Amino acid sequence: MQKLEQLYEGKAKRVYATDDPELLIVDYKDDATAFNGVKKGSIAGKGIINNQMSNRLMQRLEREGIPTHFVQELSERETLVKRVQIVPLEVIVRNLAAGSFSKRYGVPEGQPFDRPTIEFSYKNDELGDPLINTSHLLAIHLATEEEVETIKRYAFRVNEVLRAFWAQCGVTLVDFKLEFGRLADGTIILADEISPDTCRLWDSATGKKLDKDRFRRDLGGVEDAYTEVMRRLCEHDA
Ligand code: UDP
Repeated sequence: MQKLEQLYEGKAKRVYATDDPELLIVDYKDDATAFNGVKKGSIAGKGIINNQMSNRLMQRLEREGIPTHFVQELSERETLVKRVQIVPLEVIVRNLAAGSFSKRYGVPEGQPFDRPTIEFSYKNDELGDPLINTSHLLAIHLATEEEVETIKRYAFRVNEVLRAFWAQCGVTLVDFKLEFGRLADGTIILADEISPDTCRLWDSATGKKLDKDRFRRDLGGVEDAYTEVMRRLCEHDA
């Protein structure tokens, strides 16, 4: 597999073409941003952890019947993935209140829900990724009704699988963000990444935050938290 020209550089990853038009190479960086790019920094070794963690979790999801873009890990920071057209939605599933949910509705962080919630944001940096409901996203043709149903079904199933797995690791899956894409034939698959950048992961015993909130909120020990959560994953994902 030949790595060809860079197609795109995002906040945390670079994407390259390959000699196969159906496949891309993703290269994970240590760069970290928060608050729509306003806060910038770097988390040493993050790219390696996010690459390896996302790949392990996606392979687990595949085994559970959820189609993903994962093809093959190429190196510490590089993975071969299926080329998709990204559906411009951030799909957020929550098990406990935190972050923007707590702020928006005045609910204390850590309050558990009777059942998981789902919400969408319109992926659009200029607009600041606004919250969007299903009728609005259908109105502006971000996805079809059938695609939204598939995305919701997969997102809740991802939550079931990951929540149970993280529980085995002594980690509470508080919430997370997913992105989905369309293959050339229109099939919806899970894309992007699943990592401490995109999930809230709390130590089940102490409640200690083991995710990007340590960076967002200047809590310190960011690298150690990423390393700790990766260590636990490896221990239980033999
Ligand atoms: N999230 C993300 N990218 C975003 C926004 C949110 O990966 O652009 C993740 C975030 O890490 C958390 C979940 O989605 O696990 C819910 O985030 P929330 O809506 O509470 O927003 P935040 O408080 O991070 O602004």
